[in-house]
Amino acid sequence: MLSYSIELLFNVKNLRIFMFIEKYFVTHYLVTYLNDNKEKVEIMVPNLEGKVLFWHDIKALAINYIKENTNCLVPIIQRKFEYYGICAFCDEFNILKKSHAIPFSIFKGLLKKIDGGQPIVIKTSESKLMRDSDTWAIQQLCGECEKYFNDNYEKYSIDTLRGKNPDVKVTKFSSGISFKDMDQNRVAKYFLSVYWRAALSIHPSYSSVMIFPEFNTYIKAILRSDNDIHNKVINIRMFNLFDEDKELSDEAISSFMVSPFTRIENKCLTFCLKLESYYVEIKISKLSYKEKLKKGYLLNNRQILFIENRGIFSIKEILHNFVHGKFLHENAPSKA
Ligand SMILES: [Zn+2]
Repeated sequence: MLSYSIELLFNVKNLRIFMFIEKYFVTHYLVTYLNDNKEKVEIMVPNLEGKVLFWHDIKALAINYIKENTNCLVPIIQRKFEYYGICAFCDEFNILKKSHAIPFSIFKGLLKKIDGGQPIVIKTSESKLMRDSDTWAIQQLCGECEKYFNDNYEKYSIDTLRGKNPDVKVTKFSSGISFKDMDQNRVAKYFLSVYWRAALSIHPSYSSVMIFPEFNTYIKAILRSDNDIHNKVINIRMFNLFDEDKELSDEAISSFMVSPFTRIENKCLTFCLKLESYYVEIKISKLSYKEKLKKGYLLNNRQILFIENRGIFSIKEILHNFVHGKFLHENAPSKA
């Protein structure tokens, strides 16, 4: 297809620090155009601004670039193009795929439940309720790394947590759920991979998720290895969500999305995630002795993981979202 000059690769590598800060990994678009002889030609067009460009911007950028760098005077740009950049995981220059921090199969499950329609999304920054089928994806990873996450962490964890893994016995109690023989390291790394991708995403739904450069390096190394997550660095606790007032069924609870959020309490950074009917806290700190005794922490070397029930509205960030959504619903123009 195209051969990349040493100069181009050198420039791309230099851009990496800038891209990391910007969290946008696309550095080039592979654009196809018809030249003045109506021949099909491919060209790599750099995006030196390090920000998301839409189709019209990319087209304008490509036309200028082709006119400046080739003999073509009137290029006819084809609609289809590819995104290229340094993959956030393997650091190789490659085609970047749209990466889902919260896996697409979770969105798919949600869209299926509402019969292919658009779910209601409550955004505290908006003054009206919106229907939105956006699945919060952005170009971050090459195809191979996307597959690595899917094969190693996502498929196993999603199946297991949905009770669809025959090797893991899931038992429901009035106070919570137990998982017997679950690979807790794998599930813990799945949650961590969601956090890591969300933290590197520029999608507005992940705007409250952050990461430090050293931590980015640590997480990448741990996600590549078979090692357990070090409990002096990260501890992950799971809860089973329910509604104490029984207004929301279990089905309803697992049927809405909440943007991940971050808490900073007592100098401890906690990344919070609602995935279907589970609430997950990723604590970036070691635990006190008292905290260690609590249930629901993954990787505590026990064969059975018991996760306690947690009232969905006891989580103030989720409650706040609901109250805001209810206010918007009651004050919607059609009801006035
Ligand atoms: Zn990669």
